[in-house]
Amino acid sequence: MKRFTYLTPRTLDEAISLHQSHGDRARYIAGGTDVLVKVKEGKISSEYLISLKHIIGQDRPFLNYETGELFIGAFVTHRMIEKSPVIQAHYPILHDAVKNIGSVQIRNVATIGGNLVNAVPSADGAIPLIALDAKVNIYGAKGQRSMELLRFFLGPGQCDLEKGEILTEILIPPLLPRTGSAYIKHGRREAMELPMLGVGVLVSLEEDMETCAKARICMGVAAPTPIRAVQAEKHLAGKAVNEQNLAEAGKIAGEESRVRDSIRGVAWYRREMVGVLVKRMGLKALSRAKKMEPS
Ligand SMILES: Cc1cc2nc3c(=O)[nH]c(=O)nc-3n(C[C@H](O)[C@H](O)[C@H](O)COP(=O)(O)OP(=O)(O)OC[C@H]3O[C@@H](n4cnc5c(N)ncnc54)[C@H](O)[C@@H]3O)c2cc1C
Repeated sequence: MKRFTYLTPRTLDEAISLHQSHGDRARYIAGGTDVLVKVKEGKISSEYLISLKHIIGQDRPFLNYETGELFIGAFVTHRMIEKSPVIQAHYPILHDAVKNIGSVQIRNVATIGGNLVNAVPSADGAIPLIALDAKVNIYGAKGQRSMELLRFFLGPGQCDLEKGEILTEILIPPLLPRTGSAYIKHGRREAMELPMLGVGVLVSLEEDMETCAKARICMGVAAPTPIRAVQAEKHLAGKAVNEQNLAEAGKIAGEESRVRDSIRGVAWYRREMVGVLVKRMGLKALSRAKKMEPS
């Protein structure tokens, strides 16, 4: 394995300044579960790895009870999210997703920020956060900016970060009342495997507890980047959330997907499975909205 120097800045500004000093010879590292694999395989040969794990702040999920906004620091590990009572109770779609990432050992060190910046189409963290209408905060030499998470992904392995910029925070706006959500990673097995598909559904109900006030249907490994099935969402809005309408929305979502043949599954099967999984996750989201069923 190529030798590298491990740098441990304590502030965001210090990290950015180190990145500026070392330029293309440097790379950020958070949990290292993607970076170190690539270093070992010789796919990257950075001379300096700048750790983000020693920076204070951005390392806890935090619910603002006054505004209802949830902040998740980019350096929060998947395990912290999995163990968070607030996330288990109110954001089960996110809990569904992180609890099956890698193994406990991986989840203890791997961060949600690293998962998003890595930007692989199969990133399990991306789909639930897009369904929750998340925004991301980004900090760099030019200051802070923020954007919708959906627009952050530019292509496989590519995201909207300029050189030296750091993803600092994920912001989830307040949930509508009577909201339920669910995510499934579909593959040959749940753990330690890249999914063939990832499907997340969020529904918010009107006061009658049947009619869909808002729907989010999001898919991973169904296109080069995580996507929303916007036509399927529109189909469901204003209708009863039931088996038939969810099956119709699932069919539309399958048509909106841009699945292709790969070693993990052929396109026609994946398209069919989008329909099946949208319906299944929609019913689970409905049940959670009705009972506030924890994950
Ligand atoms: C055995 C194994 C199983 C896995 N299983 C899964 C799985 O089931 N599902 C899944 O989605 N992923 C899985 N992964 C991939 C990986 O664990 C996740 O993507 C993880 O969340 C990456 O986070 P990290 O902190 O380790 O990132 P790192 O490896 O530290 O960094 C990843 C990339 O992001 C950059 N980076 C990290 N944080 C920031 C930041 N805040 N700002 C700017 N740049 C940043 C780094 O420079 C690097 O390019 C698995 C990996 C392994 C090794």
